[in-house]
Amino acid sequence: MILAADFGGTTIKLGLVQNGCVSVRSQLDACADKEMSERLEAVACEWESLLKKNGFTLQDCTGVALSLPFLTDQKRSRVLGEFGKFPGATKIDFAAWSHARLGLRAELENDLRMALLGEWTTGAAHGKSDVLMLALGTGIGCAVISGGQLLRGAHNWAATIFGHSTIDYEGVSGRCGNFGCAEDLASTATLATLAQARPEFAGSKLARVEKINYATIFALASEGDDCSQVLLEQSLKVWATVVQNAVLAYDPEMVVLGGGVLRSRDIILPAIEKHLRQHMPGLPLQIQIVAASLGDDAALIGGEWLFKQSHENQSQ
Ligand SMILES: [Zn+2]
Repeated sequence: MILAADFGGTTIKLGLVQNGCVSVRSQLDACADKEMSERLEAVACEWESLLKKNGFTLQDCTGVALSLPFLTDQKRSRVLGEFGKFPGATKIDFAAWSHARLGLRAELENDLRMALLGEWTTGAAHGKSDVLMLALGTGIGCAVISGGQLLRGAHNWAATIFGHSTIDYEGVSGRCGNFGCAEDLASTATLATLAQARPEFAGSKLARVEKINYATIFALASEGDDCSQVLLEQSLKVWATVVQNAVLAYDPEMVVLGGGVLRSRDIILPAIEKHLRQHMPGLPLQIQIVAASLGDDAALIGGEWLFKQSHENQSQ
């Protein structure tokens, strides 16, 4: 059994995972403004509590799997930058922490890569060898399995920050320092600013809602709200362009789309398929585009798989 945790911006999902199944799950508020060392201790206590409640002990566990919202260096068991979340994370050797706190070995990986490993081993992409996953929502995450291997690259950031690629070369400089960056043109983080900059905003119902997010945009667009329709159209174009660019780069047989906005998959999937059919340069579209199927379990299941892969010759 593996103790798994998936650190997100608003919640930390936890689970006990065995043979590709999450048998017990729980979650904590992320409190991402607090030190990573403090959040790790909270996670360890929650795992211990889950084990106790279900009649297990740490002796029933073989390891720990951590999905982290950072660029990660899996071999060194460290994260490469903090990006304003969980301060102090770059100072931590996660494997050393796990060994000292729980007496267990640990694996870590970027959260979307873990989710892709989950979808690939037991979810939407099961049986495929070349898979691209994109998560649309707060930002735009990306991860790739190429030739049956998780793609990490020379510096461990292969695909991960694909959402920061330039899709408007005359665009303004954004939050990350790049210009015309896809994430700045279609993500929850910038949606309110984008809405307020539209000439239709003052007369839009969006001007009167408490919080502008994609749920609001999809709902008001379906009611005929001009500003919401323009923003939705723009976001669909940005997402489709990102998918197309990633497809051109990684040549997948399947694209798995995840993230909060996929609640509106009935609108998003056909729009992206249509864009690819119309604009793939000279290539017939032979790529399946599907929604992720495992939800919050994906990264926990992926974590168990990665741990087993990494330690299969050293099992306890
Ligand atoms: Zn960016």
